[in-house]
Amino acid sequence: MARRRQIFEGKAKVIFEGPEPGTLVQYFKDDATAFNKKKQGVITGKGVINNRISEYLMLKLGDIGVPTHFVRRLNMREQLIREVEIVPVEVVVRNVVAGSMAKRFAMAEGTPLPRSIVEYYYKSDELDDPMITEEHITAFNWATPQEMDEIMSLALRINDFMLGLFLGIGIRLIDFKIEFGRLWENEQVRIVLADEISPDSCRLWDVETDKKLDKDRFRRDMGGVEDAYQEVARRLGILPEGGPSDLKGPETMQ
Ligand code: C5P
Repeated sequence: MARRRQIFEGKAKVIFEGPEPGTLVQYFKDDATAFNKKKQGVITGKGVINNRISEYLMLKLGDIGVPTHFVRRLNMREQLIREVEIVPVEVVVRNVVAGSMAKRFAMAEGTPLPRSIVEYYYKSDELDDPMITEEHITAFNWATPQEMDEIMSLALRINDFMLGLFLGIGIRLIDFKIEFGRLWENEQVRIVLADEISPDSCRLWDVETDKKLDKDRFRRDMGGVEDAYQEVARRLGILPEGGPSDLKGPETMQ
């Protein structure tokens, strides 16, 4: 098989040219970084699990009418996606105080918020993803006001849906980060959910014990990272057949 052209290598994923125009292949690595690459490591099997979890969530969101870039999963570590122009804004939705919000306002982690809060960060490694407002986004033409209305409304729908989905498997959705892209279809452009949704980009706590089942275990050197990711996949009912041993299964990347 001819080696595919690599388009982009990110911290946790590699993007390759897709089999047909307008498509890309998204490859999930086991590499983990935190604090803008100041901390680096490997979470064995993470790529396989995140590929599955993101597939599952994107398909479920698609079922309720949220447009996404996802086409289909190709194998253990790869999925076919539509090529989009990424809006350079990280959208964070919070239901409970944690992470950078706890730090910024000196609030206790775990404090429920009176309502869900949406925050925006400018996607820039050099600048450490600074927090921004809609004013910056529209003034600097990162997105139009109409696109931001769509992004805000999709982010809240995604939050409502995922809150319920995770609660159903005994998990509190504390917060998460999503990204959106512009998809061109018949001369029309529309905003779709892109990137991934996984324990790398969500805070997920067990309802009963508050046990963290997400990347904070890696960020904070808590141990049990692989097990936590597997636990989320297991509760979603999507742990690869044969259990975790399958996680080191064949990879088709050349
Ligand atoms: O660090 P902070 O509290 O702002 O993170 C909020 C949420 O966004 C967390 O779920 C975190 O995993 C996610 N996030 C992310 N990528 C970033 C920053 C935050 O996935 N670059």
